[in-house]
Amino acid sequence: MIRAIYPGSFDPVTLGHLDIIKRASQTVDELIVGVLNNSGKTPFFTIDERVSMLEELIKELPNVKAMSFSGLLVDFARETKATIVVRGLRAISDFEYELQMAQTNHKLNPQVDTMFLATSLEYSYLSSTIVKEVAFFNGDIREFVPEPVIKRVREKVREKTGQVM
Ligand code: ADP
Repeated sequence: MIRAIYPGSFDPVTLGHLDIIKRASQTVDELIVGVLNNSGKTPFFTIDERVSMLEELIKELPNVKAMSFSGLLVDFARETKATIVVRGLRAISDFEYELQMAQTNHKLNPQVDTMFLATSLEYSYLSSTIVKEVAFFNGDIREFVPEPVIKRVREKVREKTGQVM
């Protein structure tokens, strides 16, 4: 029984994230999408909003669930009895940080190993930051985020800026 965690900020979840979720869910028995509740960072969406968007997107994937966590990923892995951490790799620029994190996590908890999935070509440029930047300037984000998230991002931009979109 292999349980994995796919951790991230998912602020907001993009088509690149969803692609990793779907592919990872086919290779493990259970996948927990772990949404980091990082008190040091002011997120665009609240932790509850991020979890609820993910829940809507994964409702058709029976072995996937979304949960928030704070603190160390290895502690969350211990609590949930997960042994695999899934991360997506987009470009060489992701590599250095990801390698360092994977090695640190393995050192902190030798039962946890990180597995990397290469991003699908069509999403390799995509990040949550790009989505927010484009949305702030009224750009079209339909190619970047899943359908139910489009509306939520637009509403949030309006809420934050008072802009009419
Ligand atoms: P974090 O702040 O932990 O990097 P993110 O939500 O930005 O959280 O990303 C979570 C994970 O998803 C990371 O492993 C990241 O590399 C991966 N990821 C983000 N965007 C993409 C994408 N377009 N394709 C594949 N993986 C991605």
